[in-house]
Amino acid sequence: MFSFNHPVEIKFGAGIFTRLNEFVVDYDYVRIVVVASNSQVENGVVNLIESLLGDKVRQVVTGIEANPTLGNVESITSAMYEQDAHAVIAAGGGSVMDASKAAAAAYMQGIGIEELLNHTDFSKALPIIAIPSTSGSASEVTASSVISDKENGLKVPLSGPGLYPKLAIVDPELTYTCPPNVTAVSGVDVICHALDCLGSAKSNPISDALAIRAAKLAFENLALAFEEPENREARTNMSLASVLAGIAFSQTGTSASHAMSYYLTSHFDIPHGEACAFSLDEWFIKNAEVNPELHQHAKDIGFDDAAHLSVRFNDLKRKVGLRLTLDELGINRDEIENIAGESLKQANMKNNIAQLDKPEIVQLLERK
Ligand SMILES: [Zn+2]
Repeated sequence: MFSFNHPVEIKFGAGIFTRLNEFVVDYDYVRIVVVASNSQVENGVVNLIESLLGDKVRQVVTGIEANPTLGNVESITSAMYEQDAHAVIAAGGGSVMDASKAAAAAYMQGIGIEELLNHTDFSKALPIIAIPSTSGSASEVTASSVISDKENGLKVPLSGPGLYPKLAIVDPELTYTCPPNVTAVSGVDVICHALDCLGSAKSNPISDALAIRAAKLAFENLALAFEEPENREARTNMSLASVLAGIAFSQTGTSASHAMSYYLTSHFDIPHGEACAFSLDEWFIKNAEVNPELHQHAKDIGFDDAAHLSVRFNDLKRKVGLRLTLDELGINRDEIENIAGESLKQANMKNNIAQLDKPEIVQLLERK
């Protein structure tokens, strides 16, 4: 038996962003806080939101960091309290959406910022409207948010049904201005989401179908979106891939490649997608040893088998300028033990079908 429940209303299409008011009017939100990345302010997207929604926009919060902090979350909750907000619009990449989602839950449940990272009930939050400007994090369709605990050097994943946005407005045109390096790291994250789903202990036939389609679209379109930022077809396919992979992992959770990424990001400042992609090739092969169906999934994605997919994944990473080895990432090899140990502590490592012990993970990393 499996179940599947995905409660996000999704509006998808090139150019649909200008119909924002029409979509929001269905909801009775009068006082809205907008959270936006600095690039969305510079691109004029925030001005456009204000002109489309008029005085419903009560306050705009900017300055969210790439790995959002408790301080970022607090700046959003303060605005929500000040405006007695009915909803939050998050316009930007994964960090803006994640910070907004955490703030929406903290505000609605009266959780103090200092308690947020130990809080476990995320069943309720202020309504969230997510407008992604990148294709990758898929935060617009998931019930999770990752917040950085800078003091302790940790990335803390929060999840619960309240963190699902009410509405996701996915307009591929908003990704045209996404710089190539961001396109690359967020684009490989789509493949990490899809393949982590296929290797998840909670995968099911629906999540598999979504993940396979997402991976195929991302493999076929990422290099083109990287080389030609305004290629409508490539950008649309990457946006769709991101949404499909997001819906898939909203059901299954992520698994080993993500579990291994958190320490790489918090200690060595490796961007999220690149950090996940670092070990994905190895994990996909390990997972195929446990569940040979993954070889068939690799065929459905367009490759001969899991090993072939992994080689092609590394080729793609190279093509879009990402780093493949510890040396290239500037990580000393005596960190291997720590990376292995920290990966094993993550809950999503337990969600991976191949369960490796620490010496096996060390071996995996020594090949890098
Ligand atoms: Zn990810």
